[in-house]
Amino acid sequence: MKNKPKPTILIHICCAPDVIFSLPLLRREYKVVGYFFNPNIFPKEEYIKRLNEVKKLSQLQKWQLIKGKYNQKKWFSLIRGYENEPEEGKRCEICIGHSLLETARKAKELGFDCFTTTLTNSPKKRIEMITKLGFQIEKKINIKYLETNFKKNNGYLKSVRMSKKLNIYRQSYCGCKYSK
Ligand code: SF4
Repeated sequence: MKNKPKPTILIHICCAPDVIFSLPLLRREYKVVGYFFNPNIFPKEEYIKRLNEVKKLSQLQKWQLIKGKYNQKKWFSLIRGYENEPEEGKRCEICIGHSLLETARKAKELGFDCFTTTLTNSPKKRIEMITKLGFQIEKKINIKYLETNFKKNNGYLKSVRMSKKLNIYRQSYCGCKYSK
């Protein structure tokens, strides 16, 4: 009897340290492709640095990577008026919502079964906010959002260890100009 094919998932990748543990874990049950979409990262040199680390990891761990557009002009226009919000406030909600929405759109366009994000591996991110946004976008775009918590069961610590072992760059700020 043939094995049932695994469902396909597009995972939004925020950075190499957050995908290093999350994607291999998902692979046990899904056919996974990574989507690097981060117009929030400032300055551009930092964006390129993080993208290159993700590319390196995709080759080491052997998974497919799609690169999204880097449109900082649009990102700044979306968060206008919320520049001074604290981390995890309204600015972050808009920023994360934008990344999830674009991932869902790409997943739908390419015929994936569902989408998710590596952001739930980060100790600084509120899972409830990410999950709420994911389900709102699921309804809006009509594609399933996979709820995750990649930091549970020491997921964050495991990703730190793996990053050190593979000599992966671990950034010191979230990504945008205001978190720097
Ligand atoms: S702190 Fe992080 S999540 Fe918040 S707006 Fe900046 S890049 Fe986005």
